[in-house]
Amino acid sequence: MKIAVLSRNPRLYSTRRLVEAGQLRGHEMVVVDTLRAYMNIASHKPQIHYRGKPLEGFDAVIPRIGASVTFYGCAVLRQFEMMGVFPLNESVAIARSRDKLRSLQLLSRRGIGLPVTGFAHSPDDIPDLIAMVNGAPLVIKVLEGTQGIGVVLCETEKAAESVIEAFMGLKQNIMVQEYIKEAGGADIRCFVVGDKVIAAMKRQAKPGEFRSNLHRGGSASLIKITPEERMTAIRAAKVMGLSVAGVDILRSNHGPLVMEVNSSPGLEGIETTTSQDVASLVIQYLEKNGGPHLTRTKGKG
Ligand code: ADP
Repeated sequence: MKIAVLSRNPRLYSTRRLVEAGQLRGHEMVVVDTLRAYMNIASHKPQIHYRGKPLEGFDAVIPRIGASVTFYGCAVLRQFEMMGVFPLNESVAIARSRDKLRSLQLLSRRGIGLPVTGFAHSPDDIPDLIAMVNGAPLVIKVLEGTQGIGVVLCETEKAAESVIEAFMGLKQNIMVQEYIKEAGGADIRCFVVGDKVIAAMKRQAKPGEFRSNLHRGGSASLIKITPEERMTAIRAAKVMGLSVAGVDILRSNHGPLVMEVNSSPGLEGIETTTSQDVASLVIQYLEKNGGPHLTRTKGKG
């Protein structure tokens, strides 16, 4: 197959590994810089141009779209879809997953366990919003944040009120969430490919920190997940419409709670921790499921 990897930087670990794994399995791998792909959207024959030439002959595309380029990246991916190129994850699903609130609404509709979460616009509604998530301690999250930035733990209701007011004053969209204390600063990253969890790791926050993100100094270790956690991760990816996803789960007293479903999960932490050849499993998924004109949505919806 001829496979495009949509990525801003060919030197990134995940991009390098996908290229390497694809080549080892006999595919032609081409890294396409997301922001350098441009397109004629009104043409009856959809095309993408790249460095002065049309991109042609691709069978599949692996989107590695960073949060800061979601809008443009999804437009490029949609164009690939319109050209009949098979996407590892579809543009519609990626766009969905980038809005934390929308994702939680979709997951809750299908009965997937989630931390109690509230969303409000007016400062007048703050007291009831706090009561809705069972009071302090609670977590406040900026909707478009990543890597733990914009996630704040408030120990008291007074502190929570002030922080929520401040975010509202700054016109930042935030959600308010019950704090899952019993998770003990740990979460579980389940790497889903198709209908399987192919690797899982536990991430533990450093002492004095509740966010377990590796970017925030968290450490990763191997973990054996329960059948319930496995099923939750697979269902969450499916509800979001993602073939490949990193599903983050908190272990609560009442079972697994999904915190987030990531549509471009990094490979470095999970491959290093689990010694799984995740990149190769992703390529094998494309070999098995890819093909021309097989996208479900072609960017619709
Ligand atoms: P980001 O997308 O920026 O990583 P997350 O929502 O995943 O934001 O939160 C970052 C980290 O904070 C999580 O990995 C988890 O360790 C911790 N965390 C987030 N929400 C909660 C919560 N409701 N209860 C306990 N810990 C949480």
